[in-house]
Amino acid sequence: MNLVFLGPPGAGKGTIASIAKDAFGIPHISTGDLFRANIKNETELGKLVKGILAAGNLVPDEVTIKMVENRLGEADALNGYILDGFPRTVAQADALEEMRKPEHVVNFVLDRSEILKRLSGRRVCKSTGRTYHIIYNPPKEEGIDDETGEPLIQRDDDKEEAILNRLDVYEKSTAPLIDYYRKKGILIDLDCSGKPEDILENLKALLK
Ligand code: AMP
Repeated sequence: MNLVFLGPPGAGKGTIASIAKDAFGIPHISTGDLFRANIKNETELGKLVKGILAAGNLVPDEVTIKMVENRLGEADALNGYILDGFPRTVAQADALEEMRKPEHVVNFVLDRSEILKRLSGRRVCKSTGRTYHIIYNPPKEEGIDDETGEPLIQRDDDKEEAILNRLDVYEKSTAPLIDYYRKKGILIDLDCSGKPEDILENLKALLK
């Protein structure tokens, strides 16, 4: 199954993808995670995109498309994918049509006020990428990853100025994809206001 998770930052795409990948037996491919891994490993790509991510702007289409094309060519993605955070522009969506067409595009629907609450309370473990929320999904010990014991951090782009920019970028560049995929008849609207397990059950029912 080829699935795209579309929606504003903070709607829960990564959280749902991380549990859906086991339920569906397909890999979770997050372009944000791929960029962050490159930044952490100080690769050429990482150096190129570091400032762009910190400001909450979009990495140029050619760079992003090439990275996704390479990732989709890996063995674990041959039976399908969950793309989280890609496509984010019409040019990327057109490129995906040529590479591996999505069968369903899930539109994560959540109020702007709830998005702001989720993003500003998000904390991550830098080495594993595991995410928490200071209120909704706190770690067992404040500020510490449950499994590795490492300190949790706030992503640079989860700070207020970058959050507001990311939401603007979403409205301008990515929200038009809702219509793009609705016209193709493959868009599914998913209410993301509840608990992750309930959202996943709802998604499974909608996909049937
Ligand atoms: P995310 O983790 O999905 O919120 O992505 C974090 C950041 O990575 C975004 O704010 C962008 O700077 C960059 N990024 C992720 N996916 C894309 C994409 N499809 N196109 C361009 N930039 C992206």
